[in-house]
Amino acid sequence: MPHSPYRAAVQSPPPPVTSAARMAGVLAGGVASTALSLVCVFFLSRSGTDIMGWYANYILPVGALLVGMVASSGYGIAAWLLGCKISGRLIWSVIALLLCGYAAAHYLEFRLLVSDDAVGDDGMAFSFWTYFDFATRNFRWEEHGKAGDALGLLGYGLRGLELCGFLGGGAIIPLALRSKPYCDACARYKRSPLMAILPAGEKPGLLGRTRAGDVERGTALLGSAREGLDAIFAAARTREPVATHEAMNLHGPLRHKRTVEKLTARMRVYLVHCPTCCAGALRADLVTGHGKQIKVAHLATEACDDGLVAGLLRVSRAQDG
Ligand SMILES: [Zn+2]
Repeated sequence: MPHSPYRAAVQSPPPPVTSAARMAGVLAGGVASTALSLVCVFFLSRSGTDIMGWYANYILPVGALLVGMVASSGYGIAAWLLGCKISGRLIWSVIALLLCGYAAAHYLEFRLLVSDDAVGDDGMAFSFWTYFDFATRNFRWEEHGKAGDALGLLGYGLRGLELCGFLGGGAIIPLALRSKPYCDACARYKRSPLMAILPAGEKPGLLGRTRAGDVERGTALLGSAREGLDAIFAAARTREPVATHEAMNLHGPLRHKRTVEKLTARMRVYLVHCPTCCAGALRADLVTGHGKQIKVAHLATEACDDGLVAGLLRVSRAQDG
């Protein structure tokens, strides 16, 4: 590796942690958040707020999805902090542990709500399964504060939806983390600060009306953004942090971010890099539309050496604050 005067800006590496210890930390964090969220759900339902029973259009278990997300947040936070790569095996472990948590929560609910000497209609001891079956068949829709009839066997359909929502919600955060760039050598998630934003479109027309010449103007604006991006990448190829930062400031200064973000199209340039070894690259995305219609398309990547990454971080920290 060539000597680089910019090495000093690199953060010192975290103390080495074995992958088994990392995995144990992630699982511990997740079990804690699962237990905490299910305890909250229990006490809220005792006070009349049944989060697990929140549905959108009678079919989307938004409440269970939300609880699943909160329950699995500990896995995500611990994995991010400990730099634990989310493998397929880890995702399945998370889902299995959420399932155990779900079952344990129902069992504890049964122990808390049903006394030991309770007996069913048949004179037999009131078992967990009798309780679970009774609770499931007694699900009822509540609209405008008025409860309908018990759903009976259909209640099991609702149980299925609830469980799917809970497990599906639990998989969202680990799956999102899995798509994050990761440095295998240092076992850390890469960071992706925004370095430049280039105007590639115009101000959105009133009420989205199209005007004559829109297509031509759009192509011209996109072309000039493309030229700016080429200039930034060309500067990066010289491995000169100051020159690269100047090119970024010339073609896509961050101080204009708020204005440029409002345009119909813009190019964002990120410095994807490992905070420990500075392995990285400049990544350019084309962003079009806003809100729900936002679309992000990957345009190009320019590899950077560690000296350029460290230098760019230092220059931008000094100049952009
Ligand atoms: Zn690294």
